[in-house]
Amino acid sequence: MALGPIEYRWGAALLLLAVGGGIGAWIGHRVGRVRWAAKLARVRRAMKALQSANDHMGAVLESLERAAGTDRLTGAWNRRRCEEAVAAEVALARRRKGAVSILMMDIDHFKRINDTHGHEAGDAVLAGLAAAWRKVLRASDPLVRWGGEEFLVLSPASQLEGAMTLAEKLLVATREVTFPGLGPVTVSVGVAEHLPGESWDAWIHRADGALYRAKAEGRDRAVAAEGSPVIPSHLPSILELTWEAAYASGHPLIDEQHRRLFELANGVLAAFVVGLPREETLLRWNRLAAHAAQHFSDEERLFAEAGFPGLEHHAVEHQNLLAKVRELQTEVEQGTLELGRLVDFLAVHLVKGHLLQEDWGTFK
Ligand code: GH3
Ligand code: MG
Ligand code: MG
Repeated sequence: MALGPIEYRWGAALLLLAVGGGIGAWIGHRVGRVRWAAKLARVRRAMKALQSANDHMGAVLESLERAAGTDRLTGAWNRRRCEEAVAAEVALARRRKGAVSILMMDIDHFKRINDTHGHEAGDAVLAGLAAAWRKVLRASDPLVRWGGEEFLVLSPASQLEGAMTLAEKLLVATREVTFPGLGPVTVSVGVAEHLPGESWDAWIHRADGALYRAKAEGRDRAVAAEGSPVIPSHLPSILELTWEAAYASGHPLIDEQHRRLFELANGVLAAFVVGLPREETLLRWNRLAAHAAQHFSDEERLFAEAGFPGLEHHAVEHQNLLAKVRELQTEVEQGTLELGRLVDFLAVHLVKGHLLQEDWGTFK
């Protein structure tokens, strides 16, 4: 069928409309894209501004934190604030003829926690432990975040033995915190009482050395620092306990601790024989007492693990020995302890009574 002029005109009009619509849609689409690109650029600019505002806020918070002297994650003092406080504490302790101790703490196998459960879980452990420790500490014993997973407690008015007792409490508090999805967390502690005239660096170095020993001896323990920069711990003495092969139990930790008990006991004997100042003798006594307490508790744990039948009897013996240590400490403090009593205690009770009478067959 042939088309008339009317139909041609309608056809042409429809074609024009279709082409026009297509061009319109295409132009609209292009314009839309340009608008979206402009919007996107605006959003990007806003995000960049937000980021830089955030960075600025972070820097402001950090500087506020520095000024306040506290660490944001744990609420503990930062290192700078601690170092400012130390000089004053030492001066005060000297004026009052008192003591001041530091406890250097390092969380055990912390890297594993991060590696296995992630950095956020690690952060939660840091904050959780700091909170648990603060419950144990007096308001006058500041907790310091020394760096990473290392903390320090400054314990004014604390002699070595008191500071070791505090360390034991912190060990218990650490073991008692539960973190969901994580096994028990432990910490190792190095304890050092400030010695007359000792520099901050030397003091920290001794606490660090003790912490190193705590790690080496198996972690989850506190070790008292040794060595006095003023007086060597081993002076020649006519009276000395000598280590015999027969004392060996066959257990490496127990043997190492027994040898150390001998060393520390000889240090006390030497102080008496040579007539060292009472302050130094007392320091040596406290070191011996702290080591004995740690050693007995390790021994009881090992006996329990080995299913040793005489555990209760030994625990009682240990308590008796520690009671005797405290009794004699008072005499050392008062300067009334006689050499005969000291030798009787060290040689008869500590060595013969403890080392020789215990049934070491378990470990042989
Ligand atoms: P050790 O028992 O010998 O102390 O072992 P460790 O794994 O605790 O010791 P190491 O010093 O190798 O690891 C410490 C780890 O602590 C490494 C570091 O990534 C992590 N760390 C330090 N600061 C932080 C922190 O603020 N948060 C988290 N989550 N981890 C941290
Ligand atoms: Mg560390
Ligand atoms: Mg560690």
